[in-house]
Amino acid sequence: MAEPAANGTSGKVVIRNVGLMLSGDIDRPILDADTVVVRDGRIAAVGREADCDTSTPDVLVDARGTTLAPGLIDSHVHPVFGDWTPRQGQLGWIDSTMHGGVTTMISAGEVHLPGRPKDIVGLKALAITAQRAFDNFRPGGVKVLAGAPIIEKGMTEQDFADLAKAGVKLLGEVGLGSVKAGAEAKTMVAWARKYGIQSTIHTGGPSIPGSGLIDKDVVLEADADVIGHINGGHTALSEAHVCELCERSSRAIEIVHNGNERVAIAAAKAAIELRCPHRVILGTDGPAGSGVQPLGILRMIALLSSVAGIPAEQVFCFATGNTARMRKLDCGLVEVGRAADFVFMDRAQHTAGRTLLESVGLGDIPGVGMVMIDGIVRCGRSRNTPPATEIPVVVATAH
Ligand SMILES: [Zn+2]
Repeated sequence: MAEPAANGTSGKVVIRNVGLMLSGDIDRPILDADTVVVRDGRIAAVGREADCDTSTPDVLVDARGTTLAPGLIDSHVHPVFGDWTPRQGQLGWIDSTMHGGVTTMISAGEVHLPGRPKDIVGLKALAITAQRAFDNFRPGGVKVLAGAPIIEKGMTEQDFADLAKAGVKLLGEVGLGSVKAGAEAKTMVAWARKYGIQSTIHTGGPSIPGSGLIDKDVVLEADADVIGHINGGHTALSEAHVCELCERSSRAIEIVHNGNERVAIAAAKAAIELRCPHRVILGTDGPAGSGVQPLGILRMIALLSSVAGIPAEQVFCFATGNTARMRKLDCGLVEVGRAADFVFMDRAQHTAGRTLLESVGLGDIPGVGMVMIDGIVRCGRSRNTPPATEIPVVVATAH
């Protein structure tokens, strides 16, 4: 199960007996449904079992009353190649993160590549290679959206047109390269947007020796699609400046694990007070100096729910449907037509919470009992989370 084919099809999968269906949609986070039908990796029906065509499945899963949510999306990772990170000399970090419920990761730049090229033709070649490599190789089945160039001084509009034409859809964190001034960043972000390339900007103090400060005025002027790690990566701007960013920008508010936790809570509360919770998305910013966090997204969900006091079912949307919508992905919502990427969870054994949502609200992370990507089971009981009280079982398979 370590390296399932990226292109296998699931056939017809019926998932029944779901105890709680989390939709990923912040306007309606809980669905009145207990059954999902999948056809060839896509959601074909969601509802009550009696209302769904559950006949002759290739695979039948009994969720045994557990919670089904869209697979979690990590909006901010720094992959290199394969399932390896040189930052902390670790192997298998992506597969390990799948065991934390993550089914899609979005690169904020392949910045840890030893000897990373910083000349323009070199950085373009790296981005195209990384995009291709992760398109062809999915550790644990995880969709790693990579190929996110770090922009450097001297790039022209034609460079962005070339990148887009070659299949690059993301910019790495603006500010990690030589482009650090607001006006210059604004020009390049606008070129990227013109050619359909999404942008993220580094926010806050330098991450590691050699990187630099990006303050709120640069973030506002550059106007990237995502205010990357608004709570710092790791050093945050002042809470007043973070709240000002939430208020004056309309872009995604990305909160990360490898950032300042106090400011993470302030940013989430500001978004709620400003009535824009749909803008909040979650990432880990791993691998980084703080390491790799296979449970980083679940930990952020528990942190924001328990300490910021935001209902757990809404916080799950920060890591699923919000990210999918802000980043135009075909996953992240339990909705007909979307990719059948799911995480099955139950309250961890011996949590004080009586239900999964209550346990998360008390600050406990849930136990993952199964992860499915494109309708294919990628793991059963997680090797990384605390054990779930109940887990789903595959009761029948036609193969
Ligand atoms: Zn950063």
